[in-house]
Amino acid sequence: MAVPKRKTSKSKKRMRRTHKKLSVPGITTCPQCGEMKLSHRVCSSCGNYDGKQVVEA
Ligand SMILES: [Zn+2]
Repeated sequence: MAVPKRKTSKSKKRMRRTHKKLSVPGITTCPQCGEMKLSHRVCSSCGNYDGKQVVEA
């Protein structure tokens, strides 16, 4: 079985892990009120969706 010749340095390990990060998917800001909202869902603070008031706030 192939074995690495050198120990991976702290620098190389950190460089590799720059692409590995936690992400919160599907979060955007509401164009109406600027609050954080889930995309493709009605805004929970102002009740807007696609520029229209769909739920009374
Ligand atoms: Zn909103």
